[in-house]
Amino acid sequence: MNSPLLSVVIPVYNEEESLPLLFARLMPVLESLNRSYEVVFINDGSRDRSLSMLLECRDRYPGRVVVIDFNGNFGQHMAIMAGFSQARGEMIVTMDADLQNPPEEIPRILEALESGHDVVGTVRSGRRDPLFRKFASKLVNRLSNRITGLKLNDYGCMMRGYNRRIINFINQCKETTTFIPALAQKFAMNPVEIPIAHSEREQGQSKYGLYRLIRLNFDLMTGFSLIPLQAVTMLGMIVSILSLSFGVFLLLRRLIVGPEVEGVFTLMAISFFLMGITLFSVGLVGEYIGRIYQEVRERPRFVIRKVWSHED
Ligand code: UDP
Ligand code: MG
Repeated sequence: MNSPLLSVVIPVYNEEESLPLLFARLMPVLESLNRSYEVVFINDGSRDRSLSMLLECRDRYPGRVVVIDFNGNFGQHMAIMAGFSQARGEMIVTMDADLQNPPEEIPRILEALESGHDVVGTVRSGRRDPLFRKFASKLVNRLSNRITGLKLNDYGCMMRGYNRRIINFINQCKETTTFIPALAQKFAMNPVEIPIAHSEREQGQSKYGLYRLIRLNFDLMTGFSLIPLQAVTMLGMIVSILSLSFGVFLLLRRLIVGPEVEGVFTLMAISFFLMGITLFSVGLVGEYIGRIYQEVRERPRFVIRKVWSHED
């Protein structure tokens, strides 16, 4: 079979409420492109009816739909990685299954890819997420750009386009924790960012609680930079210098004023603060070591139970 021009890669985790509407909106858009296309769905260990609904969709659009079934929940980024390894299109668009990214924007992304951009990033205009998410995102976007040295206006939006060259590079990356938009940006030669619409999640719930969001952002920060480690070293140096000066100051006071006991609580506060910094630093080093540990074991990053490809 010839490779299609466009592959759309969609990770799915417990999205039974969203899927019918997704099929109903996505497939007409793809049909109207008048180009060959395929949709690669990855079932990321859903415990609801998502898988059987994906297979139904595959029956309804023969030769158009590939379904990859994971043997457990390996996370959105691993799901997309698996999708990339199966996708055969010249151009690849990733999007969420929950319809927060409107499928109607695919033609615009494709247009940007066809005009020669190798990575098409997106910025959610009028983003419809809880206020706390939007605020945290702003902070994280800024910090991420600082730390990773990349220039992205919106790390979180997963509706993005890549050409074959970028996907081939990404397929060579075997890391177990990653952040795909940042990875693609590393390889991009001619990236562009376009604004796209964003809607509220109508069905189901966000799969990212506070804990998972924090974990994900650690993946981004530690996966693409050593600056956090260097910052901790710098901080350690500054704290040492300050402590030394404080020690000298106390010694001089001891000689001039004589023994004193006041200020005990101040000292306690200071040492608690320093302990906090120490714990944080140890934890940060641990984040890197944990990832090194994960990588050296070389276990499979995800386990595919079955792939329903075009033919069989
Ligand atoms: N997702 C996934 N595995 C996970 C978590 C999420 O495949 O462990 C999928 C999910 O089904 C959706 C997309 O990733 O298609 C984005 O998830 P979600 O909408 O929950 O994230 P948010 O929009 O809240 O950032
Ligand atoms: Mg969502």
